Amino acid sequence: MSKTLIVLNAGSSSIKFVVFDVTDGKPTALATGQIEGLGASVTRFNAKDGEGQSLGEREFDKVSGAIATHENAVDLILNWIEETLPGTTVVAVGHRVVHGGVRITTPVLITEEIIAELETLIPLAPLHQPHNIAGIRAAHAAFPGVPMVAVFDTSFHRNHPFVNDTFAIPREYYNEGVRRYGFHGVSYEYVTRRMKQIAPLDAEGRVIIAHLGNGASMCAVRYGHSIASTMGFSALDGLPMGTRCGNLDAGVLLYLLDQKGMTSSEIRQLLYTKSGLLGLSGISQDMRELEASDTREAREAIDYFVFRVRREVGALAATLDGLDAVVFTGGIGENSWRVRERVLQSMQWIGIDLDEEANHRNARLISSPLSRVRVYVIRTNEGLMIAEHTLDLLGLGQAA
Ligand code: AMP
Repeated sequence: MSKTLIVLNAGSSSIKFVVFDVTDGKPTALATGQIEGLGASVTRFNAKDGEGQSLGEREFDKVSGAIATHENAVDLILNWIEETLPGTTVVAVGHRVVHGGVRITTPVLITEEIIAELETLIPLAPLHQPHNIAGIRAAHAAFPGVPMVAVFDTSFHRNHPFVNDTFAIPREYYNEGVRRYGFHGVSYEYVTRRMKQIAPLDAEGRVIIAHLGNGASMCAVRYGHSIASTMGFSALDGLPMGTRCGNLDAGVLLYLLDQKGMTSSEIRQLLYTKSGLLGLSGISQDMRELEASDTREAREAIDYFVFRVRREVGALAATLDGLDAVVFTGGIGENSWRVRERVLQSMQWIGIDLDEEANHRNARLISSPLSRVRVYVIRTNEGLMIAEHTLDLLGLGQAA
């Protein structure tokens, strides 16, 4: 009988999953998929195999009521695994959780005490944490007795020096948890580990990793450890994103509140769902669509995105006291040679010389032999990182 491990990433209206075969203690992806539109009039399920070939799609309308909750969705995933991969046993579930707060700095076995602690962190991540917890509860009901592990997006950043961990507001807020946590930590940890395999010398140096996807942030890594992130207290700060604003003068919030009379929930909607590339272009949050558009607004949205990434290269290099390597990852970072080319042009002053041809074909190394700073494109794999942590923590890994 084969053994499988499931990784779940539960959001507000979607659950993404990866099914790994772990029979020999080493995770091999069998399927990835998602259920989108939870609570909406139409809910969609789709799954692909390890090579990206479709394993099926289904749609559920609201009338059937088949998938209204996270519980229904996890049940559907379980049933689908049983149908599609008969004769396998789910031995563990790994969960992506956005916030571990100040205290949780490593992956943990999920217990009722841990769930209670995660609930206390809901005010710090109200848009993500409740759904992560709903996913945990749903999986607990669907897989009774199966051990579950939580892996956190904040963990990788928890050793930032004080100056990169605080805001300049009275200390009492820092003490109660108003800190620059930083996110996308699972992706940064994966990329850092991959670098140790493919570029071990650079992995020990001063590295900027740019995770550029629908969510986007950058991280300064020294000797394999994060020392600064462009994301702060929430996943709003730093770079502009698909629909999130990125760095914003706090005075704008006061203006929206005082002069425009907006409520906090209206402001939340504006900053999380209507801003970023979508807000600036008025067309789309999707970089591919913006690159294909010839409107001035689309061009300016990309201009702003590129400008902020370039600015952070300079800022993070200063934080690192210099630079040895830059890594691009995430949907835009891995695929958009245009964005990478524009970010890196005229950067010889910092030691970066782009190999345009290698960049065009999304090669792993895209800097020229003359470049003092190496530039890499590394495909992130958050699901695999979570699977490895889950196996390690449960003693189910290859070494066990
Ligand atoms: P992610 O959230 O990491 O899946 O990244 C999603 C983003 O990557 C979207 O803005 C996509 O438009 C962008 N993206 C994916 N493939 C490409 C591509 N070939 N060229 C430009 N952008 C891309």
